[in-house]
Amino acid sequence: MKIAVLPGDGIGTEIVAQAAKVLEALRSDGMKIEMEYAHLGGAAYDAEGDPFPQSTEKLAKASDAVLLGAVGGYQYDTLPRDMRPERGLLRIRKELNLFANLRPALLYPELANASTLKSEVVSGLDIMIVRELTGDVYFGQPRGITTLPNGEREGVNTMRYSESEIIRIGHVAFGIAMKRNKKLCSVDKANVLETTELWRMVMTELSKEYPEVALTHMLVDNTAMQLVRAPKQFDVVVTGNIFGDILSDEASMLTGSIGMLPSASLDQNNKGLYEPSHGSAPDIAGKDIANPLATILSVAMMLRYTFNDEANALRIEGAVRKVLQQGLRTADIFEAGMQKVGCSKMGDAVVSAL
Ligand code: NAD
Repeated sequence: MKIAVLPGDGIGTEIVAQAAKVLEALRSDGMKIEMEYAHLGGAAYDAEGDPFPQSTEKLAKASDAVLLGAVGGYQYDTLPRDMRPERGLLRIRKELNLFANLRPALLYPELANASTLKSEVVSGLDIMIVRELTGDVYFGQPRGITTLPNGEREGVNTMRYSESEIIRIGHVAFGIAMKRNKKLCSVDKANVLETTELWRMVMTELSKEYPEVALTHMLVDNTAMQLVRAPKQFDVVVTGNIFGDILSDEASMLTGSIGMLPSASLDQNNKGLYEPSHGSAPDIAGKDIANPLATILSVAMMLRYTFNDEANALRIEGAVRKVLQQGLRTADIFEAGMQKVGCSKMGDAVVSAL
């Protein structure tokens, strides 16, 4: 298993170091794991003048999976758009053709009080959001800011999805629903946007290939509301790039802390990029207080989706659960009566529990 490790910026280096400890523990158990490090984001711009340098692209393409921390930092906000860290992230996703983004929102019972919602609304919550990642208004052409003949500026982005793009993300979502509770909710804005009218048609056609999965459709505005009103009605949710971006952040907060949520971005062959759902948190970088559990749980997703190793995925998830049961908490999930630990200590505790 060749893994490209890209710590990135901010807390990225601290949290990835903890995930690497877990991988090393698995290696000392006999698993054949090879890890090679490279730069992405601001760190890559500093070292190589490009947020996604060729050396990183080569390594990522030659690896079976990529483990990423996060990218971004205040010092890069004034760089030309193409040189900003976030552009490196968009480019690696596009280059590796990572069209399927899987973001679970799972609430550990030990953290039921960390959510801002009433615990009876969220306890037992277990949603998987499947977001299309390489199309939609984020990539559609034409785009840009132009000046109209009357001198006024105009901003343009284009929402578009081809049928084949919808079909391939649809298969991923139906496949995941088959392995879970066989409920799939497809989210669109078919009452207003033709792009998503096609999305709804294609999902309905695909559902004939998955007769065991109960497919429903929901408008995105209603979904935003239902996620906070009655989130447990959802099992698997599938949606386009922009709606998925917003809804998955909303769903993540149902669970209390973004520091707990892993994510996977997969290509057609289940090669994947695994990263926490949060960013580089420059406000807490270098203080050893970041929560590394989302990154560690991303390693569990890597074993499950790229390496087909459900047993070790469950082992890592079990170890995370155990440290929470032991009362260990980083600052973001801390509550009275628990033991506050830093990023590195949390990583060590997960390795011991493993
Ligand atoms: P962020 O997710 O970095 O931080 C939001 C808040 O959550 C902050 O208060 C932060 O301290 C906290 N937080 C995040 N992760 C945490 C963790 N593991 N443990 C404890 N607390 C944590 O989002 P932001 O502040 O909007 O963005 C900061 C930078 O990250 C920006 O440059 C942004 O572009 C970038 N970003 C990168 C990614 C990515 O790499 N995938 C995603 C989102 C944002």
